[in-house]
Amino acid sequence: MNIRKAEKSASTGRCFGYAGIDPGDDSARRWVRDAIALLNRDAHRSADTHLIRLSLPALKGIDIYLKDESTHPTGSLKHRLARSLILYGLCNGHIGPRTTLVEASSGSTAVSEAYFARQLGLDFVAVMTATTSASKIDAVERFGGRCHLVDHASQVYDAARQIADDTGGYYLDQFTYAERATDWRSNNNIAESIFTQMAEEPHPVPRWIVMSAGTGGTSATIGRFIRYRGYDSRLCVVDPENSVFYDNYLSDDCALTGKKGSAIEGIGRPRVEPSFLPCVIDHMIQVPDNASVGAMMALSDHLFRRVGASTGTNFYGLCWIAAQMQAQDQSGSIVSVICDDGNRYANSYYDPDWRAAQNIHPLPYRDQISAFLKDGIWEELAT
Ligand SMILES: *Cc1c(COP(=O)(O)O)cnc(C)c1O
Repeated sequence: MNIRKAEKSASTGRCFGYAGIDPGDDSARRWVRDAIALLNRDAHRSADTHLIRLSLPALKGIDIYLKDESTHPTGSLKHRLARSLILYGLCNGHIGPRTTLVEASSGSTAVSEAYFARQLGLDFVAVMTATTSASKIDAVERFGGRCHLVDHASQVYDAARQIADDTGGYYLDQFTYAERATDWRSNNNIAESIFTQMAEEPHPVPRWIVMSAGTGGTSATIGRFIRYRGYDSRLCVVDPENSVFYDNYLSDDCALTGKKGSAIEGIGRPRVEPSFLPCVIDHMIQVPDNASVGAMMALSDHLFRRVGASTGTNFYGLCWIAAQMQAQDQSGSIVSVICDDGNRYANSYYDPDWRAAQNIHPLPYRDQISAFLKDGIWEELAT
């Protein structure tokens, strides 16, 4: 048989439908190399995020830590994901010097991707629901991105794909690729960072790590890392109302869909996202929206600064587990995540009029969590 030779060019091969990428074009190849170097330099200049230990004398023998992802330059844990997704597209040969980047997002990812797209000189379009916080829409636009708003959370996927098709652009597709674009074994991913920062604590291996799911990518990374390193830690995923993740966990049914979007920005989805990996999750808790917002307020009171509502969902689950541990005389550490800054939500979750209009009534839960933090006593609420 003869030796066969071929070179890819823009005119051959199905994966080169993206504008501006011709693998035979040396200048495009150089651009990709420089783009990756630019992202790596940005990472090299960045510091790790803090792991905060809460001071809670009433919780004897139970140490509580929060990984503060609100301090990334773009304000949320999605800073890590945006960098990973864009590197993934660059290294896969899907992003070139003239590629428009497109994303479906509940907001935070779009803000972070807009930041990196601007550094790379690429156009960026975010597809989000019209209910997304004004401050996130504003941030995307300040970073030079364009926002395309749709009515319902279930419409973002098709709209993003369509815009990518129309512009010859690249749909970053966080909901599919979050779990695989993240380097789950190392590279100081959020899990490796948590375990490294815990090393000198009294209980260095957390008994529980509590995390909510939007893409499911963070919980996938944490769950895999726990197994990979052989830790005894358990992963609890907390899910808000109107999300199908909890029911999928119980039923294994991947075709579940929800009619309403989640009221907690960043988490809870109307379909079972491909990046949500139930097999690495040890326990799930469904948290009422009122409890998420109540815990958000109680934690903000405790920290003297505002956290977002998904952090409230995380914290409600964390406190519930801490109460169970207390009841069973267990000691150990519990870790969860501050996903983003609450000032993004000054005109929503922190605004009593907005809450009343949305039928969100968090005050009994705020009192429940505040009392638990102060006295270590968990009072069940009548529902
Ligand atoms: C995305 C997001 C989450 C959930 O993280 P995933 O890794 O996508 O599951 C939680 N809170 C906020 C504010 C988010 O933007």
